[in-house]
Amino acid sequence: MEYFLTEQQKTIKSLARRIAEEKILPMRATLDETEEFPWDIVRDLADADMFRVFLPEEYEGLGGGCLDLCLVIEELSRICSAVAVTYATSALGSLPLLEYGSEDQKQKYLPDIASGKKLAAFALTEATAGSDAGAIKTTADRGNGGYVLNGTKQYITNGGEAEIYTVIALTNKEKGARGASAFLVEKDTPGFSFGKKEKKMGIRASATRELVFRNCLVPEENMIGKEGMGFIMTMRILDRSRPGIGAQAVGLGQGALEVAVDYAQQRIQFGHPIIALPVVQNTLANMATEVEAARALVYAVARTIDSGAKRFTEESAMAKVFASDMVMRVATDAVQICGGAGYMRDYPVEKMMRDAKIMQIYEGTNEVLKMAIAIELRKRKAAWE
Ligand SMILES: Cc1cc2nc3c(=O)[nH]c(=O)nc-3n(C[C@H](O)[C@H](O)[C@H](O)COP(=O)(O)OP(=O)(O)OC[C@H]3O[C@@H](n4cnc5c(N)ncnc54)[C@H](O)[C@@H]3O)c2cc1C
Repeated sequence: MEYFLTEQQKTIKSLARRIAEEKILPMRATLDETEEFPWDIVRDLADADMFRVFLPEEYEGLGGGCLDLCLVIEELSRICSAVAVTYATSALGSLPLLEYGSEDQKQKYLPDIASGKKLAAFALTEATAGSDAGAIKTTADRGNGGYVLNGTKQYITNGGEAEIYTVIALTNKEKGARGASAFLVEKDTPGFSFGKKEKKMGIRASATRELVFRNCLVPEENMIGKEGMGFIMTMRILDRSRPGIGAQAVGLGQGALEVAVDYAQQRIQFGHPIIALPVVQNTLANMATEVEAARALVYAVARTIDSGAKRFTEESAMAKVFASDMVMRVATDAVQICGGAGYMRDYPVEKMMRDAKIMQIYEGTNEVLKMAIAIELRKRKAAWE
């Protein structure tokens, strides 16, 4: 399908593909087995200016937008979703700064994120606050010339590896979600440490850790945006980043499809390649159609965001839900087409199926996002009437 990408977008996409094939592919299985954080690959991505693509030129970015970011995520995820989420999360961690940060904060932090010298992370989730994100308990009390953070964040991607953390904490406990604010916390801040490193089903080379704050003093100037706006900012930032999860799903779906087609052409049963069987053709045709439909939706939503549109909650949720449900089916079908071989770790579809599952869960579970879509539909229905 022709997506009418700009010359710069085509260049970015093909460069991301080259890095994925030359640098990530040879390491993919080892990284998955050892669960080692892919620092060498992060450095390769930084050397190729991949962390710059979505940041404005004044902060040493390349001036691209959501679509440019999605193109890179898609190409990385086609080979390895663990690397893709590591990369995408640095963008997520820097979005609050980009959208709501002061000029001083942007000048101080964004160039290092653009160069890939420093990774970023975004910390909202806690043990008692997952889908119910408004139930966070981490506090940020005013004192000693700043805010003192106390609490524990759970399941934070890039935890322990990133240098820069956007942390959502309560500046006013009584107000609940409306009393939440966002803070920039640097890794070496006294009182900030790392807890449990999770052992995961998939995306195993990505780091998922607890962040622990014990009387951690964060300077006043590290608050992002206005006090009490942390929750609203979070919802708007996630609207912007969810097409990135869609792009992870599209890339993984494409990778799984390619493996399945190759296998079906080579595997001989009953004297013929299994791709000659109508049932296999039917499955492959459905997989290809679903991947392409998800890609079209993700690109369209990314373009809507890049157009400067103000509201895209529903569209962004649709792209994430549709693409992640798609990739779970496509990765499962890819394993099925590869038969017993597909179940073995020697074949990449085994990892792909494990990696696919998380896309239906993080950045809002699909169940919760469907509720958000339905709420928007009800509002829209009122407008239709
Ligand atoms: C690998 C990984 C990386 C992550 N990275 C980050 C990160 O970088 N930063 C961060 O802040 N968080 C991160 N998360 C957290 C992630 O966003 C949450 O896990 C997710 O939002 C779901 O929350 P939960 O796990 O508490 O599930 P729960 O909220 O407990 O949900 C459990 C089940 O109940 C369903 N459910 C809950 N409420 C409703 C409802 N109202 N209606 C219908 N169904 C409902 C859910 O859909 C789900 O099926 C990560 C999680 C994982 C696993």
